Amino acid sequence: MNRLTRDIGYIDLRFQDQSEVIAAAVLHSSFGAAIVDPGPAVTLETLGSELRRHGIAVSDIRTILLTHIHFDHAGATGAIVNENPGVTVYVHVAGIRHMADPARLIASARQIWGDELETLWGEFKAVPETNLRGLTGGERIRIGERELEVAYTPGHARHHVSYFDHDSGIAFVGDTAGIRVGPSPYVLPPTPPPDLDLAAWQTSVEAIERWRADTLFLTHFGPHTDTVNHMRAFVDHLAELAEIARRIVAQESREEGLSHFTVAVSKLLRQRLPETTVRHYEDAAPIRLCWLGLERYWRNQGVGGAA
Ligand SMILES: [Zn+2]
Repeated sequence: MNRLTRDIGYIDLRFQDQSEVIAAAVLHSSFGAAIVDPGPAVTLETLGSELRRHGIAVSDIRTILLTHIHFDHAGATGAIVNENPGVTVYVHVAGIRHMADPARLIASARQIWGDELETLWGEFKAVPETNLRGLTGGERIRIGERELEVAYTPGHARHHVSYFDHDSGIAFVGDTAGIRVGPSPYVLPPTPPPDLDLAAWQTSVEAIERWRADTLFLTHFGPHTDTVNHMRAFVDHLAELAEIARRIVAQESREEGLSHFTVAVSKLLRQRLPETTVRHYEDAAPIRLCWLGLERYWRNQGVGGAA
């Protein structure tokens, strides 16, 4: 576990044996432990062994704070609650029914990942409704001596929330502030289907900026302290990616769109990032998914014919 403060750290879940793709944040003290986004079920073993290495057992986990219910953030939750039925799971109200009965969530993920779904992400287990607490934004959650503020931050997903710890100045923003690995200034916006919403995302950016956080903690990947520049870069790069997709949707057929978008974005990533880093970005936000989200978004806006 890497330390952020005396009692806040994070674990590199080594998704697909790679470092710096998925991070789980851990808040721990005398009250037990809280985890922000425990990650996919497939990296549960890494999560458990890293926690144990720091003296934290699954039975010490009191709280799971989900930013949203995508497999790479929330997939391990059900398995943890199975092992420790005392865990309270916070999630946006729109995510509650999917956490309690993930059948529809799994079906829609299968449309994207096909037969690779289980191998890639592991089994998404249900969480009993009695363990779930719904959020809409504006709440304050007590975690030991800490109090986390909740903001509703849709855009990447309709059911996305972010958490801010005033004491440490750390904002846990899930995917709302994009993907950024290491000191590279490039922030890649993950724009998957089905509920990508660019206007809502802008409002969410403003909500995060209002916190004036000292540190933005990204699931992909880790803490970044140049928060003002980070958010500015994120907004620019989201607009850039959206415009690339909009032009392609307006001009090309559906079949050609994906390959043209892939070529354009791969080129853009390679202009700005070393080859070794590009892989981390592409693993965290596959270009195909970014295209599917943006294409659907623009067609819904009436660009290039209806969705
Ligand atoms: Zn996501």
